[in-house]
Amino acid sequence: MGTVHQLICTISPGGLLFTCEDDGCGRRLAVTDDGELVIIDHGDRAVLHRGSSGGIEVTTGVRSL
Ligand SMILES: [Zn+2]
Repeated sequence: MGTVHQLICTISPGGLLFTCEDDGCGRRLAVTDDGELVIIDHGDRAVLHRGSSGGIEVTTGVRSL
């Protein structure tokens, strides 16, 4: 099992903003009011990111392009 970073959820005007709490990573992603997941900053792509807030839980992994 690899490294897991925790995402901290904050409420922003456009939806929910998830920010990685790990210094030096910087992953940020947003869930819009439409339910769309948007990655703002990829941060460290090699680790698994998890975050939750209320009834919302988000898990992002590595995907090869
Ligand atoms: Zn991270």
